[in-house]
Amino acid sequence: MRNMTPRTVHRIPHATGKQTRHCRIIGCNRHTKNGKPYCVNHVESNPYVSHVLSVISDRKHEEEIVARRGWTAVNIDGSIAQEILQFLRVNGARSLKRLSRDLRRDSKLQAMYCVALTKAGLINVSKNKRGGLILRVA
Ligand SMILES: [Zn+2]
Repeated sequence: MRNMTPRTVHRIPHATGKQTRHCRIIGCNRHTKNGKPYCVNHVESNPYVSHVLSVISDRKHEEEIVARRGWTAVNIDGSIAQEILQFLRVNGARSLKRLSRDLRRDSKLQAMYCVALTKAGLINVSKNKRGGLILRVA
């Protein structure tokens, strides 16, 4: 017969989760979730979130300038051009149309980035049987 004596179960407090914390913003005092330092209203004060928002803002700004001034405004070392190169390295050759769809960028704007990358010698462009442009890493 099995030992029927009940065992004592000790609850170990969760390392990160359940303790109540308050937002670090002076005067806010809202509770935060999962031990995070800022509440939902002040999440942009988190250094990582702040960095990500800044990168997104810089990308939007660059796209606006490229849309206005054309391929010469492309920052070849910037995150958008590098993202295109990395995408082509990982996924192989793509048509301009498909690349625009895959990276969710307007095809006219995408074309300007591809012209800049071609002029810099970083990608090669060829045509498929139907005359569509095919892009691959040089
Ligand atoms: Zn707050």
